[in-house]
Amino acid sequence: MIDKKDLDAFKASLHGELLQPSDSGYDEARSIWNAMIDRRPDIIARCRGVADVVACVNFARGHSLKLSIKGGGHNIAGLAVCDGGIMLDMSLMRGVWVDPISRTARAQAGCLLSDVDRETQLHGLAAVLGFVSNTGTAGLTLGGGFGYLTRRFGWTTDNLLSMEVVTAEGRIVRANENENSDLFWGLCGGGGNFGVVTNFEYKLHLVGPEVMAGAIAWRAEDSSAVLEMFRAVMEKAPPELACIAGLRIAPPAPWLAKDIHGKPIVALFVCHSGQLAEGEKLVAPIKAFGKPVGDIVQRRSYVSQQSLLDATQPKGRRYYWKSEYLPDLKPDLLAKTISHAKAIPSPHSAILLFPLDGALNRLAEDCSAVGNRDAAWVLNIAASWEKSEDDRTNVEWARAAWQDIRSFSTGGTYVNFLTEEEGDERIHAAYGDNYERLIEVKTKWDAKNLFRMNKNIVPVTR
Ligand SMILES: Cc1cc2nc3c(=O)[nH]c(=O)nc-3n(C[C@H](O)[C@H](O)[C@H](O)COP(=O)(O)OP(=O)(O)OC[C@H]3O[C@@H](n4cnc5c(N)ncnc54)[C@H](O)[C@@H]3O)c2cc1C
Repeated sequence: MIDKKDLDAFKASLHGELLQPSDSGYDEARSIWNAMIDRRPDIIARCRGVADVVACVNFARGHSLKLSIKGGGHNIAGLAVCDGGIMLDMSLMRGVWVDPISRTARAQAGCLLSDVDRETQLHGLAAVLGFVSNTGTAGLTLGGGFGYLTRRFGWTTDNLLSMEVVTAEGRIVRANENENSDLFWGLCGGGGNFGVVTNFEYKLHLVGPEVMAGAIAWRAEDSSAVLEMFRAVMEKAPPELACIAGLRIAPPAPWLAKDIHGKPIVALFVCHSGQLAEGEKLVAPIKAFGKPVGDIVQRRSYVSQQSLLDATQPKGRRYYWKSEYLPDLKPDLLAKTISHAKAIPSPHSAILLFPLDGALNRLAEDCSAVGNRDAAWVLNIAASWEKSEDDRTNVEWARAAWQDIRSFSTGGTYVNFLTEEEGDERIHAAYGDNYERLIEVKTKWDAKNLFRMNKNIVPVTR
C-alpha cells in the first residue's frame, strides 16, 4: 500500500495525470493490443515530459514499486503493464522533429510508427520501422526493429544515432556511440532493461513519398508454386525490394475477389522503396505469376503501404505467437509451412515470412546487443482469435507448427516476438553471444533490477 500523503504529493508533482483503478480512463490506459493480457497496475502515470518520467522513476524506486513502461502497448507478452505497482504511460509524448538537412529525426518515446512516418514523409524521408503503423516505436526500436527498409539499411537500431535516457537513479543521460557507449550498445536490442528512453534520434533515408508497393494473393492450392516463385525472386532481388509472404484464410477485404473470402490464400506484401521505374520492372514477374485473386501492387504512397496490414492486427483480439530466425527458405520448410497453414483454426491467424537479409548481415555480431547477424528471415506463426474458450485450440496450433518447423532456425529468435511464457532459455537464444555483455551493462546501469517488466536480463548481485 502506498501512503496516501506520499501519493498526493507525487500526484501534485506531475504535469500529467495520475490514474487509480476507480478513475475514468484507467481501464483504457491499462489496456493493450493483446487481450490475453489483463493486468492492473495500482497507479498509472500519464507522463507529459521528461520531468514526469524522472519523478515516476524516483517514486517507484523510493517506494520499491514494480514499474512498467507502456510505449505503444503492442508487445505480445504484455510487458507494458504490471500487476500492482506503477505503469508509466508514455502515450502522451508523441512529438517528432525532423531535420531534413541532416536527414535525422528525433521522436518522443510515446510515438507510434505512423507518427514518425507522417512527419518524415513530408520530406521524402523515412526511418527504418516496422510493418504495422500503430505499433509503438519505443518497444520496436529497443528490441532491434525491422521492416520494409531492413534489407537496405539493417535493423532499426543500426539506424539509431542517440537516445535520451532516464536511469534507475533518476538521472538524465544521453547515450550514443561516444557518450555512455555501453548503455547505447545495450539499448540497441536489449529492450527496456536499462532505463526509460524519453526520445530516439533516427538516421533517415530517401524513400517515397511514392513507392511501388501493395499486396497480391493467390488461392492456397497454388501455395507451393507461389512460395517457390517468391523464394527465387527474393534470392536475386536488390535490397530495395522487400516482400513478406503470408498464408491465412482470406479476410473479407475489398481488394480480394468475393468468392475467395473465407477460403485459404497465400499472399505477398510487396514494397520496392527505390526508383519507381526499377520497382515496376521488379514486381512485373510477381504480378504476372499464375492467377491472382487480388492484386493491389501499384504506385502508392509509402505511408499507405506502412498501414496496409493494420486492419489484420486490431487491438483487443487474443494473440499468441511462435517465432524463429531462419538462414534461408529450404523447400522442406516451405512444405511444412504450407501444411500447417492448412490446419489454421482461426480466420485471423497466419504464418508469415519476413525478409531481413542484406545490410544487417554485413555488420559484426557484437556491434550492438541485437546481434543475429546471420538471420535472413523471420518466421512468425501468428495465432489470433476472438474468444477465450478458443485459447487452447489456437495456442496448440501455433505450438505444434513451431515444434515441427523450429529445426530450420538459425537458433536465434526475435526478442520482440517472445510471448509471456518464453523465459530465460529463449531470451538467451535471442541474444546469443551478446548475452553475457548485456548482463554486465545491466549490472552497471540497473543493479537492483528496477526495470524488470521486459525480457529481463538479470543483473549480477554483489
Ligand atoms: C501488430 C504488430 C506488428 C508488429 N510488427 C513488427 C515489425 O514489423 N517489426 C518489428 O520489429 N516488430 C514488430 N512488432 C513487434 C514490436 O516490435 C513489439 O511488439 C514492440 O514491443 C512494440 O513496441 P511498443 O512500444 O508498442 O511496446 P510496449 O508493449 O509498449 O512495450 C514493450 C516493451 O518495451 C519497453 N518500453 C516501452 N517503451 C519504453 C521506453 N520509453 N523506455 C524503455 N523501455 C520501454 C516496455 O517496458 C516493454 O518491456 C509488431 C508487433 C505487433 C503487435
